[in-house]
Formats: sequence, C-alpha cells, structure tokens
Amino acid sequence: MKMYEHQAKDVFRKYGIPLAQGGVATTPEEAARIAGELNKPVVIKAQVLAGGRGKAGAVKFADTPEEAKQVASEILSMDVKGMKVEKVLVEEKLDIASEIYVGITVDRVKRMALVIASAVGGMNIEEVAASTPDKIVRHYINPAHGLYDFECRNIAKRIGLSEKQMNTTARIISALYRIYEDYDVELTEINPLAILSDGSVMAVDARLNVDDNALFRHPELREQASAGMDELSPLERRAKESGLVYVELDGDVGIIGNGAGLVMATLDVVQLFGGSPANFCDLGGGASPETTAEAIELVLSNPKVKVLFINVLAGITRCDEVAIGMLKTMEKVQAKTPMVVRMIGTNEEEGRRILTGAGIDVMDAMEPAAKRVVELLGGA
Ligand code: GDP
Ligand code: MN
Repeated sequence: MKMYEHQAKDVFRKYGIPLAQGGVATTPEEAARIAGELNKPVVIKAQVLAGGRGKAGAVKFADTPEEAKQVASEILSMDVKGMKVEKVLVEEKLDIASEIYVGITVDRVKRMALVIASAVGGMNIEEVAASTPDKIVRHYINPAHGLYDFECRNIAKRIGLSEKQMNTTARIISALYRIYEDYDVELTEINPLAILSDGSVMAVDARLNVDDNALFRHPELREQASAGMDELSPLERRAKESGLVYVELDGDVGIIGNGAGLVMATLDVVQLFGGSPANFCDLGGGASPETTAEAIELVLSNPKVKVLFINVLAGITRCDEVAIGMLKTMEKVQAKTPMVVRMIGTNEEEGRRILTGAGIDVMDAMEPAAKRVVELLGGA
C-alpha cells in the first residue's frame, strides 16, 4: 500500500523527522487559508500516489494567499499520470541549498533491509544512480542487531556531510529504520532531504509503502488502504475491504478456492476442459463460514457467472465451516446458479454430510469436477 505524501509525513512527524509546517487542502479557498495562516511563501503539491510530480508540473510555488488560491485551483484540476488530483499539500516554502537522498528498502536477494543514501538527490536521482553509481552509498542492515547509531553516522559521513548535518541526517536515518520496522515497510524514502541555506536539514518529500500482507497488523491504516482503491472495480473493492483476493475475468464460470496455487490450478483445469472463468476468489487460509459466505456473494454478484465451481483443499480451513457458509449464502441470495463442489481435507466427512443433506453433490477430484462444470455450462 502506498501512502500519500501528507499521510507519510504524519508518520514521519511522530518519529521526530524535521518537516515544514503546512496542511492539506481540497479546495483553492482552503489552500489560500493555509497560506494565510503560514504567512509566508508556500509550495503547493498534488497529493497523488505517484512520484515525479515536480516534473509533471504538480509542485508549484506561491508568494501570497491569493496566488496560492490560483495555483491550488490549477493543480486541483490536473491529472498526474492518469490520477485525478483530489488534494494538495500546502507547506511553507523552504530555502533549499542542496538536496540529498535517503531511503530504506528490502533487498529480497540478500534478505536484508538496505539503506540507500546519496549526496545528490532530488528529481534526477534515477539518472545519478545510472550515470554515477559510485555516488550512491549502500548499507545492509543486519536483522539480528538492527541499525546502530554509529552505522547511521557512518552512512551520513560516507555521503560527505559536514559534522552538524551528519548528526541530524544520522538521526533521520535511524528514525526511518524505526518506521521501517514498526510499519512493515517495503520502501520508505526522503527525496529530497534538503539542506537549507541556514544549514538545517529537513524532509521535503516523504514516501512510505507498507507491505499489503502486513496490513492486518495495522488496523489504523485500513481506512487509508481503502482510500487508495480508486482503480478497482466495485466488486474488487468490496473484496479488498473483506480481506479477500478477488479478480474479474471475461468468461462465465465463477471460481472459489483456497490458496493462490489451488485457485490458479482450478482456473487452468476449467480452461483445459473448454470452460472460461468469469472471476475468482481466494478464500485464503482458515476460511470461516462468514468469509465463505462473503466470497460466494461476491462471485455470484457478477451477472456473467453461469456456473459456480468451489474447489477447497482443506488444511487449516475446515470443510464443515465452508459448507455452513455455502448453505447460508445460497439461502440468503436465493441463488439458482448451478454449482459444483470439490472438497477434501479437514472435516471432509462432516462437510459432505452437510452439503448432501441440502442436495448438493460433493466431488473428490478436480478433473471430473471441472468436466462437470463445463457440462453444466452447455446446459446453462
Ligand atoms: P516529486 O517530484 O513528486 O518527488 O515531488 P517533491 O516533493 O520531491 O518536489 C519536487 C521538487 O520540488 C523537489 O525536488 C524540490 O527541488 C522542489 N521543492 C519542493 N518543495 C520545495 C520548497 O519548499 N522549496 C524549494 N526551493 N523547492 C522545493
Ligand atoms: Mn520527491
């Protein structure tokens, strides 16, 4: 999950990273009011989940509240990389002497977190990395002991900072690492980290990407996560809100399974026998009757679905719970969609008893089940 700059800055502020004063505006009038309160020249920046706003003309300056209103109205009517600008961040304009880069990300090959720093940061960091890679300092973090203060100071020294800036920058790198750990971060970066003309150091930009698979550990971020779902279809959005993986396709078979591997195999086997999936939903591990019910509702609310194929290989998941969830939903949505269930594993007998009691046949093997799905399609 990507956070907007202003949200990332709210986190940075809690960890003591120095930032400019400012506020978020959704209208030109609000932007003018914030500029008036700051009573200084301001920078106005589009809040979109994309980098390169400066180059796209979505970072602009204004000297007066009047001008701030004008500039905000321009930015608020822009599209940045296909994303509509809904909010702007209005901040005191800083007097920047030079721009450096600091960031922390995961090196998946080394299985370690990695601090990246460069004395030359700002909008052309990619070119710096490509043309003068020796200007980029890398420091791997030993997960057994984390990041010591002396290591932070070393990184700051290696990019050639003077003593005072070295200490502040070291503290900022240390704060970034605490954020990295506390928020299950995939990437956090400050570009630019500005050295101001008075010698102080301040984070001008803020990026914070949290690992989606860790979002359950951060309930306070859930709302923000759903705010970033603009590009999803209404059904995909609903799935995400319920913690399910749901994807829409073009065919007419609805597919529910548990675990990414099994779901992919189910898609393949349906296609092998000549069917074509309309959508699929992954129940994940340990699906409750409620999750199962939600998944069936989701898949069936796509009107293209002519046959529903439920394929469960129960380990942590329990067949009886899935069966209870199925019956509950079939009753609730009065579904007349024919369905094929293949269910094996934990509490298989009980699950089968519940379903056959309700007139639903359960199959043991995936291939005959997929064949049956395609037969039903012919009749549907
Ligand atoms: P990005 O282009 O999306 O990374 O947006 P940034 O927030 O990094 O802003 C782009 C550039 O605008 C920065 O690299 C700075 O050079 C410039 N900029 C942003 N804020 C200020 C400011 O307060 N004062 C000055 N002088 N320049 C700024
Ligand atoms: Mn930036």
